[in-house]
Amino acid sequence: MNAVEVRDLSVSYFGEEALTKVNFTIPKGALAGIIGPNGAGKSTLLKAILNLIPKSGGEITILGSPLKEVRKQIAYVPQRSAIDWDFPIRVKEAVLIGTYPSIRFLKRPGRKEKEFALKCLEKVDMLEFQNRQIGELSGGQQQRVFLARALAQQTDLFLLDEPFVGIDVASEEVIVRILKELRDAGKTIIVVHHDLSKAEKYFDELLLLNKELISSGDVNDVFTPKNIAKAYGGQLSFLEEMVKPT
Ligand code: ADP
Ligand code: MG
Repeated sequence: MNAVEVRDLSVSYFGEEALTKVNFTIPKGALAGIIGPNGAGKSTLLKAILNLIPKSGGEITILGSPLKEVRKQIAYVPQRSAIDWDFPIRVKEAVLIGTYPSIRFLKRPGRKEKEFALKCLEKVDMLEFQNRQIGELSGGQQQRVFLARALAQQTDLFLLDEPFVGIDVASEEVIVRILKELRDAGKTIIVVHHDLSKAEKYFDELLLLNKELISSGDVNDVFTPKNIAKAYGGQLSFLEEMVKPT
């Protein structure tokens, strides 16, 4: 079964097309990377999958169903730059919010939810920071807290937008380990990543994007010099360093 099926997806902002007739599928249980240069439409693609922005054409099926039936099965971690870090909330409450969809209407989170939120914080090695304001954390710590919040949602599909930007090596290692654990537990994870390094190491499936889909599928088939050159256009000196000869 496919976790995500996207057919002929187009998205425009004020008449300008950001995505043009994009087609791909991501199999259930994959750890997939979406890669492409700045402005390629990577964040737009995640937002379209979440129905946060209107599409100008095409169809999206999630876990075999139309999006509106499975919205609660998707956890989303936005780009860090899109989050208001001055919002006055402590780490443990930010994670507790993740449990809300599983709480019945008008019921407040109880001990069970609070304990689970702390368990998720422990998974990302952030338990000792539970009483900190989110604005008082480093980039890597913030990213780990938002991953904990996503874990608290207990979903089958995870979408993360540039989780490795501006974070420390230790945080990156923690996040990669957890993403691989989720994959091994049968969850599907889609990660936006603007950087070619480590793409082969991190992902099973790859999607190369630059407004249109350049290539998608098994990382070994997609990650070729020809495809990368197509996605990254003229940035060739950079490519020579990044792409090993085949
Ligand atoms: P990426 O995440 O790959 O860097 P984005 O999806 O953020 O790319 O953006 C794709 C294109 O759409 C860019 O040209 C960007 O300027 C434009 N864009 C993104 N969001 C908006 C918006 N809210 N309004 C207008 N244009 C936007
Ligand atoms: Mg983006």
